[in-house]
Amino acid sequence: MSAPSTMPDTHPDFKHRVATALADTKVCEAGERATRRQDGARRKILTELPDALATRKLAARIKDHTLQNLDRYLEQLVANIRRLGGHVHFAANAEQAREIITGIARDANARKIVKAKSMVSEEIELNHALEQAGAEVMETDLGEYILQIAGEKPSHIVTPAIHKSKEDIGRLFTEKLGIPYTTDPPTLTAAAREVLREKFQNADMGIIGANFAVAETGTVCIVTNEGNGRFCSSHPKVLVSLMGMERLIPRMKDLPVFIKLLGKCGTGVRITCYTSLITGPRRPGDADGPEEFHLVILDNGRSRILGSDYREALRCLRCGACLNACPVYRKIGGHAYGAVYPGPIGSVITPLLGSLDAYADLPTATSLCGACLEACPVRIDMPTMFLRLRNDLLRRGHVPWRWRLGFKMWKLEMRCPFLYRMGTTIGRWFMRLRAKDGWIRKLPMDAAGWTAHRDFPAMDAEPFSKRWKRLQQNKEESR
Ligand code: SF4
Repeated sequence: MSAPSTMPDTHPDFKHRVATALADTKVCEAGERATRRQDGARRKILTELPDALATRKLAARIKDHTLQNLDRYLEQLVANIRRLGGHVHFAANAEQAREIITGIARDANARKIVKAKSMVSEEIELNHALEQAGAEVMETDLGEYILQIAGEKPSHIVTPAIHKSKEDIGRLFTEKLGIPYTTDPPTLTAAAREVLREKFQNADMGIIGANFAVAETGTVCIVTNEGNGRFCSSHPKVLVSLMGMERLIPRMKDLPVFIKLLGKCGTGVRITCYTSLITGPRRPGDADGPEEFHLVILDNGRSRILGSDYREALRCLRCGACLNACPVYRKIGGHAYGAVYPGPIGSVITPLLGSLDAYADLPTATSLCGACLEACPVRIDMPTMFLRLRNDLLRRGHVPWRWRLGFKMWKLEMRCPFLYRMGTTIGRWFMRLRAKDGWIRKLPMDAAGWTAHRDFPAMDAEPFSKRWKRLQQNKEESR
């Protein structure tokens, strides 16, 4: 039996994609359960830090300082990696990055490539380019491997197959790996491991991301929970690390601050199982490690963000905590965003890395509740950025005239008590006219969305100002 398809809907209309996602109740439930569990685990484990808020503020300060001096720290990183015998490449955009990496594979005659999880590689659509160049690319993170054989895209930054149940995976492995159907996680993991071990042993080239790059030492740090990153980085002769240019930290002594936060905020664990530090290629006497080490540093719109009011977004550690905390992400899942980076941080950086016109709906995919800011280990103020992006949208003419007129009238009303009273009286009258048993089943025009999935309460017959006065009077009299 084949697994039900949960390929992201590529319909350009965000609302259509959301409706499609909400209609898939099984996927919604699996995502909601998993995100709530991870968010709960994060809250609990953070209490183990003596002063979590102070650590988060420190992490934010280190990132801000790095971004402020990014040119200097990049120079330092590049000099150190070259001193160690590694190669550094700069890619201005996705196309250049793909060309550089396929070129490295071609020069090394690498036909078999193993890859650790890397969102930047998703951003540049690396696998497709390598496969077109004739290489076999194998994802080795379990979640990514599941998605690769299912032909799907990740729906979460950290747990890419979060939308899949163990029943889905059981069916998929039966179909693709030919094992008897089971939902037992250890049996499924063992089946994937058997396939992956063979791939690790025969790989010509490894590709990893970079959670952090330490400028002071030229070290790339990756964290994984499965050890696959370590296999990818230590066994193949050629290793490529692909990083966004913002993933720098200045000193080795800054690293523990981030390691402490990343596991806790990402998956609610004290620390991720494997923290690997790669400092250049293998040296004489080393037991393992690559003979060739390449670091590819990707811009792809990041320097534009660096020079804008949205610089703070480059603090992001890609921990996924804001996704787990977000009530919108929990309901619609990652594929509905139609972008590589989903959730609150995705709704901020996708329009900034790409184009605001192409992703005009994303800054509205939020309730502005502030849960993302509260969850973020580096305290990125995403709610304020959503408002700024909406302001940008307004200036670029993305807001319909009806809305602009409505907000102008609302502004007028808020400034003039007489108009406010008149507006609310008309509104109350209109709503009560449409209501049945105190509830409105259907609102017209742009307000129809409010009643598409639930009823809307009619306004009370007595205005709040009158009720307030009456309550105050009653209080006075009872004294
Ligand atoms: S914005 Fe913050 S919470 Fe969201 S992924 Fe980035 S670091 Fe994590």
